[in-house]
Amino acid sequence: MAGDLHTHTSFSDGSFAPEELVAAAKKIGLNYLGITDHDTVDGVRHLYENGHLPDRNIHIIPGVELSANHPASEVHLVGYNIDMYNAALIEMLDKIQEARWERFSQIVKTLQDKKFAIRETDILKTADTSRSIGRAHIARALVKIGAFKSVREAFDKMLAKGQPAYVERYLPEVDEIIDVIHRAGGKVVLAHPKLVGDNALVETLCNKVDGLEVYYPCHSPEDVAYYSSLAEEHNLMITGGSDFHGTSSRFVKSLGEFTISDELAAKFSSSLNLRFD
Ligand SMILES: [Zn+2]
Ligand SMILES: [Zn+2]
Repeated sequence: MAGDLHTHTSFSDGSFAPEELVAAAKKIGLNYLGITDHDTVDGVRHLYENGHLPDRNIHIIPGVELSANHPASEVHLVGYNIDMYNAALIEMLDKIQEARWERFSQIVKTLQDKKFAIRETDILKTADTSRSIGRAHIARALVKIGAFKSVREAFDKMLAKGQPAYVERYLPEVDEIIDVIHRAGGKVVLAHPKLVGDNALVETLCNKVDGLEVYYPCHSPEDVAYYSSLAEEHNLMITGGSDFHGTSSRFVKSLGEFTISDELAAKFSSSLNLRFD
């Protein structure tokens, strides 16, 4: 019995529909599942509005993962147990979506200028229910037409920061994200601190957030010890998850490959007063 508090569905860049993700989680016996799509709460809303929440067999924690503006580091914040209908939250997510669409068009245009035979519609067809069109979708389309061998290669050679088809996009500031998540009744967790790549910055952020994602696939035992001590020092909640994206996950191949203990997931959940319990 275990939990996974960090997962993505097909409403952002994951490949599992929300129902499929929940079914897979129940099948392998997870007791806690955090659904934390990038820039959208539509996956969890979809579950709720179709009568799948609450679910007696699993605790579903509604979440959203937001990238914060930072010149050098990858700062991702996860809002947990947010009110998915909160106006301030929806306003911020809408603004991010709009910027994503603009960037999407710019990237596709750049690729076309570089003679890649892709069209917006081809990518959108593969993106299906996604509400946050991003580089992952474009990368998959590039792989599909044989331009690159893998999504990773498409990023490394074309789409990643510093590469020819990279386009900046609007990202909210850390403080703005924290404020909006709190206004939506949620708690803010700093995701995958190791990927921030800057311990001084992580320590500064620990003064602002409510929790730290201590357990993450690429964290070594030493990292876990370090982040646990940081969490204790700053009186932060401790979370963990696999960042499961379905077939295109960065670190895990299947759901259940990386989990946290039931005790830990239960402790985190009980401090939240879960909306769907
Ligand atoms: Zn992330
Ligand atoms: Zn994630």
